[in-house]
Amino acid sequence: MTSKCKEKFITNPPDLLSGVRYIVAVASGKGGVGKSTVASNLALGVSKFGSKVAILDCDIYGPSIPLMFGLLNSSVKMNAEQKMFPLESHGVKLMSLGFVSNDQTPIIWRGPMVHQILIQFLSSIVWGDLDYLFLDLPPGTGDAQLTITQSIRLSGAVIVTTPQEVSLIDARKALKMFQKVNVPVLGLIENMSYFICPDCAKTSEIFKRGGGRRISEELQVPFLGEIPIDSEVVKSGDEGTPIVAKQPDSVVSKRYSEIGIAIGIQLKVMERNRHRDKNDLVQIEMKKNK
Ligand code: ADP
Repeated sequence: MTSKCKEKFITNPPDLLSGVRYIVAVASGKGGVGKSTVASNLALGVSKFGSKVAILDCDIYGPSIPLMFGLLNSSVKMNAEQKMFPLESHGVKLMSLGFVSNDQTPIIWRGPMVHQILIQFLSSIVWGDLDYLFLDLPPGTGDAQLTITQSIRLSGAVIVTTPQEVSLIDARKALKMFQKVNVPVLGLIENMSYFICPDCAKTSEIFKRGGGRRISEELQVPFLGEIPIDSEVVKSGDEGTPIVAKQPDSVVSKRYSEIGIAIGIQLKVMERNRHRDKNDLVQIEMKKNK
């Protein structure tokens, strides 16, 4: 890292994120497990209750947020100081690498460049006041994930997995990465857990079921819930109106909203405990100095 970059790394992100109350990373070990879909619908679920919410799409390999929010051909607005302002769709503020390079050419991310480009990107966004900022992380546990987890003051992380063993193995790795860098794991979500037949209401466990709950218990993190396979999730995401916005009363949408509430409660409890610990320390210091 150059000294100029280091300077940016240290000074800029905290300044620009000072108006953000909670920053939640949504992560997965593997791609394609529904991480962006979960991040989008959780954000919408939380915003339904009046919170100011944003999503930062950090998926350098294939940003999906522009498509899911109907902003595929939109570009970011930039001011004279090269600061970038989020776009907005369905009441959620959005920023994506897809808005910066929105042609069909993939950005080639070479190892040493990943850190520098991500930091520059993260440092340039003006969010304003927010209650929740959800980060849609790239899948895996490589350089990009480490850069983000270590340069942004994360309130917590949510891990998304599907029930198959190949996904669970990598979800476990992602979970341990957050524990290693001392980011609280708010819990694990098992996506595509089962399928309810729309004709006969019979439940089929297409990819097995229950692995998410099992590794949550094993690694002692909360299990946030199971989300069924639903073709409406795909359709709504592809149309640019995620299911929580399109069909807020559907079973799947209610599940996303419940998980959003559970995350919000955990964050508030953690915040209260931190204040309490701080107050206790102040009291101890005051007693010592008497
Ligand atoms: P990731 O971010 O992990 O790569 P995406 O969120 O892009 O995954 O989802 C991959 C595909 O799976 C998308 O087509 C999405 O619509 C679909 N998908 C996600 N969750 C569900 C679900 N619960 N039921 C059906 N399809 C889903």
